[in-house]
Amino acid sequence: MSAAIYDLHSHSNASDGVLTPGQLVRRAHARGVTALALTDHDTTAGLAEARVVAAELGLRLIPGIELSASFESHCLHVVGLNIDPSHPVLVDGVARQQDLRVERARKIADKLARKGIDGAFQAVARAARGGEITRLHFADFLVGVGRARTQQDAFDYYLSKGKPAYVATQWAGLAEVIGWINAAGGLAVLAHPLRYKLSNKWINKALAAFKVAGGQGVEVVTGRASGDDIRFSQELATKHQLRASIGSDFHAPENQYLELGRLAPLPVGAQPIWELF
Ligand code: AMP
Ligand code: MN
Ligand code: MN
Ligand code: MN
Repeated sequence: MSAAIYDLHSHSNASDGVLTPGQLVRRAHARGVTALALTDHDTTAGLAEARVVAAELGLRLIPGIELSASFESHCLHVVGLNIDPSHPVLVDGVARQQDLRVERARKIADKLARKGIDGAFQAVARAARGGEITRLHFADFLVGVGRARTQQDAFDYYLSKGKPAYVATQWAGLAEVIGWINAAGGLAVLAHPLRYKLSNKWINKALAAFKVAGGQGVEVVTGRASGDDIRFSQELATKHQLRASIGSDFHAPENQYLELGRLAPLPVGAQPIWELF
């Protein structure tokens, strides 16, 4: 039997992905992925559909989630892998995060209205179709109404920290979020450790807290990581005695730079998180 091909971070339209959970699983399968984690932002709503399609195709679906977490003044993303989505501790926590998302979306829309951009909340709610509203929905809205040329511009001019429509949010704390994942039988993985623009001191501080709170892994290989990124991330994993994970963070087929399963291998010496599944 040939080796499994893992992609342990992906999004469907239950949050800010473009594909339905079923379409996502089909695409992963077509790209050679044999074990896929669906990890939508603060929701497990896509997992049931993904599971059905994965079973049809003989793909191993790892039930997952990507939770937003506050650590001091920073927002970190924690991926939960192999969770029981029906566990009451997780279900309660996720419901709280979802309330925070709606509240934040209303505040972002209010800030945009003060900039003369009306109707944002209705538009993003419609686009999310009952799924979780993320800043990516606002970025698409801003592009759609001609206020930004690209998603990146929308973040750079409106949505990023320090920009006019940024809203600081007190998500559940890092340790708390890890606790929900562990309670639900899952493994907690710090997502894309280099994307928070933290200094060396702060990423080490975050990983130390993450480990103490019961976190098990860190993403060493992510969608667009360079060789240097991968080496540096593995050094962090080794230093903090964390397992290595691998995930594309796929959101949409339109992004030509990022594809399901198109990932570098883990570096030699890495201890794969999937050995714990
Ligand atoms: P949220 O969790 O609502 O703050 O939204 C964060 C999501 O927005 C991320 O998961 C990405 O999908 C997307 N995102 C964040 N920053 C950028 C960026 N600079 N360009 C494009 N998408 C981004
Ligand atoms: Mn996203
Ligand atoms: Mn993320
Ligand atoms: Mn993600």
